[in-house]
Amino acid sequence: MIPQAVLEITAAHQPDWPVPAELAAVRRELRARPPLVDAHSCHALAGELEFVARGEAVVIQAGDCAELFADSARHRVQAKASQVHQLCEIVESAGIPAVRIGRFAGQFAKPRSCATEILADGSEIPVYRGDAVNGLAPTAAARRPDPARLLTAYDFTARGLDALFMRQLLLSEGSSGIGSMLAPTYISHEALLLDFEHGLLRPDPARGGAYASSAHLVWIGERTRQLDHAHLAFAERITNPVGVKIGPGATPEELIAIVDRLAAGRGRGGLILIIRMGAQKIADRLPTLVAALGSRAGQVSWLCDPMHGNTRKTSTGRKTRVVTEIQAEIEQFCRILRERRLHPGGLHLETSPDPVTECLDTMAGLTGSREPDRYESACDPRLNPVQAEQVVRHFTRLL
Ligand code: PEP
Ligand code: MN
Repeated sequence: MIPQAVLEITAAHQPDWPVPAELAAVRRELRARPPLVDAHSCHALAGELEFVARGEAVVIQAGDCAELFADSARHRVQAKASQVHQLCEIVESAGIPAVRIGRFAGQFAKPRSCATEILADGSEIPVYRGDAVNGLAPTAAARRPDPARLLTAYDFTARGLDALFMRQLLLSEGSSGIGSMLAPTYISHEALLLDFEHGLLRPDPARGGAYASSAHLVWIGERTRQLDHAHLAFAERITNPVGVKIGPGATPEELIAIVDRLAAGRGRGGLILIIRMGAQKIADRLPTLVAALGSRAGQVSWLCDPMHGNTRKTSTGRKTRVVTEIQAEIEQFCRILRERRLHPGGLHLETSPDPVTECLDTMAGLTGSREPDRYESACDPRLNPVQAEQVVRHFTRLL
């Protein structure tokens, strides 16, 4: 039996589910369903992360900010996996093994800075919190949190995993017989909705305790990593590899506590610190944090999320990010870790397999008055394939 305690601790950014009985029924249903991923593949990822922490491999984790159910058909998941694969091949062509982690097949929930959104006509509706919670359409009806969406999120994750399995199978058949050793694509998402994550805890037969069967890797976001809140308690309980986003406001004491609690019991590299400070702040903040960790710093995997600290607005009010700033944060990330004999262990990116125009190539684009012609993200701006390759090439040159 898995104790319920985590659900009794304060948790930020949980939806206000309107009908508690509906949520309770959904939780029962989730507990009765089969695990989405098995414990063995979570441990296989942990094994790969040991190489990352030792400086012998890097992670490329990439995909949507907010994944839509409507964008989760088999061919779409396969397109997203192919993009991650191509990004990994850039690293591998430099002789460095790359671990493929998708930010898809389950990335259906978002923390939001404001609980409501004001429409052009002045009316106020609940904010979009990801397809696992409510609908993107800007109407009060679509934005009502519906716990049945948690079951749909489960279904789409299951289908996404089937799509990845089929892709793996077809590719290994296509490549000459020995191709059966194709590198796997692991799936990951932010462990935000604790009713969902908790409902999918399953006993871990190999290590004892429980693992999160919703994904191989889950991470705790910048807005939910409070030391006394439920998300960190959840991360502490599971045997999967876990990530924690670390923004510019993190204190040395917080980081030490996070590492002491979450690295323990996981193999080397099984805790991933996903640094997202922004190009303007990383040089000021990261060195102090690394120094404070002392020898613990070598036990974790260090990833750079150069997206979330570099969000800007265009002159027309759109959220965007600039490739040159993204690259500037990566450069500093690599330098700061290198100077302390640590390994820059990879990138965490928001990407699309489509030629979207959500991110800008240079700062000059910020002052332009033209609306981007392909802005399709349900939440944050993503790199298009050309931009993503450019960013990964830049990172590879720094390795
Ligand atoms: C995200 O990864 O989409 C996100 C919300 O990031 P962070 O928690 O780092 O702000
Ligand atoms: Mn995002």
